[in-house]
Parts: sequence; structure tokens; C-alpha cells
Amino acid sequence: MIYFDKVSKIYNPETVALDKVSFTIEPGEFVSIVGHSGAGKTTLLKMILAEDKPSSGKVFFESVDVHSLNRFAIPKLRRRVGSVFQDFRLLPNKTAYENIAFAMEVAGRNEADIKNDVPHVLDIVGLGDRLWHFPHELSGGERQRVAIARAIINQPDLLIADEPTGSLDPDNATEVIEILKKINDLGTTIILTTHNPDVIEKIAKRVIEIENGRIKSDDKKHKIQ
Ligand code: ADP
Repeated sequence: MIYFDKVSKIYNPETVALDKVSFTIEPGEFVSIVGHSGAGKTTLLKMILAEDKPSSGKVFFESVDVHSLNRFAIPKLRRRVGSVFQDFRLLPNKTAYENIAFAMEVAGRNEADIKNDVPHVLDIVGLGDRLWHFPHELSGGERQRVAIARAIINQPDLLIADEPTGSLDPDNATEVIEILKKINDLGTTIILTTHNPDVIEKIAKRVIEIENGRIKSDDKKHKIQ
């Protein structure tokens, strides 16, 4: 589904954020990208979403060279990808229901679909009783679960979770991981970044470790599929 072919990214003047990185991610995989701060994790995610161009090498989403897409095709690609961030990025003046409904409206979905799908997706993340709560009325773990519900509501092929447990205590982090595993079991490919070894242990699937912009290890033996 995702193929990096000797991708390098050099920021001026001479920061090598990615150094000839190659790997393949198959549909349905759950891959954790691990590495210290500054290792190149965020840069790698940006390459997939065409938010930044490689200095050399190519990134393929299925058979499409992401960086050959024009400005009309890039939004279409991004609609196939859901994103979750460390800081949740919910709209503070909208309830859980409205945050998710808004993502559906933007994608052009109709009112009947919204009424049907929003309670269902909040059930999937275990928040069927929190529809009308605002973000400030929810715990960190609950906020992240709303953000995950929003990220999957338009049925993306790929879910990118950038340090999704970074602001959570261990119990909430475990819940969020369990939900991501459930979503992966339902067929969505997931790429997650973390620098937390406990998170990798709990996911227990493939781990790509990057250090100074290079792949240090690609441990497929964690892969239980
Ligand atoms: P991580 O997400 O693993 O913390 P990043 O991908 O953010 O790492 O950064 C990798 C390296 O690239 C770091 O040395 C960082 O300082 C550098 N870098 C990232 N973005 C930029 C940018 N826009 N301009 C210059 N240097 C950058």
C-alpha cells in the first residue's frame, strides 16, 4: 500500500532528516515507527501526505507516485487517509457528536448518514454515552477516542497516528491502543509513531526503528497477522 524507494530529505542547510529510506507497508498492516525526537518520524509521515517533497527518491501510495500528483489530486489522496495527533485537535466549541459530524459534512456526506454513523462510530470507540460532551468535559483519553472516531468516520484506507498516546497516562494509553488494534482488525492499515517502548510492546506488531534519518531495524517478527 505504501512504498518508500530510497527517500531522502535534506533541509537547508545540511540537516539530513531522511537518508535513503526504503520500506513497504502492505494493506492491513499495523506498523509502529519508533525513534528519538529528531529521528525523522514526522518528516516520513509528511512525505506520505505530500505535505513536503523528498529531496530524492519516491513515495508510492498504492501504485501512485505521491509527489507526481497535481494540486487537484493531492486532496483526493489525503481524503483516503485519516490522521490522529498527540494534541487531539478537536474543535473546542463543538461536542463530540458535532466534531465528527463536521468531518462528514466537509466530506460531502448527507444528514441521514451523519445521524446514523456518528453514534455508531462513537460506540466503536466506547463513547456511546458521551455524544453531547464538549472536549473540555472529557478526559484526555476520551478526547483522543473522539479524535480517532473522527479520523475513521469517512472510512479511510490508511490511519496515521502521530504520537497518539504522547499526552496520555498509561491506562488511557492502553485503551487508545486497544481501540486502534480493533480498527486495524476491521481492515484499516495503521501507521503509528511513538518513542514509548511500552506502546510498542502493547501493540506487538511490526516495528520500524529510525535513527538519524535511517532505518536501524525493521522487526517483522512482532507482526502477528
Ligand atoms: P521526529 O518526528 O522523529 O522528532 P522530525 O522528522 O521532526 O523528527 O525531524 C527530523 C530532523 O529534521 C530534525 O533534525 C529536525 O530538526 C529537522 N527538521 C524537521 N523539519 C524541518 C524543517 N521544516 N526545516 C528544517 N529542519 C527540519
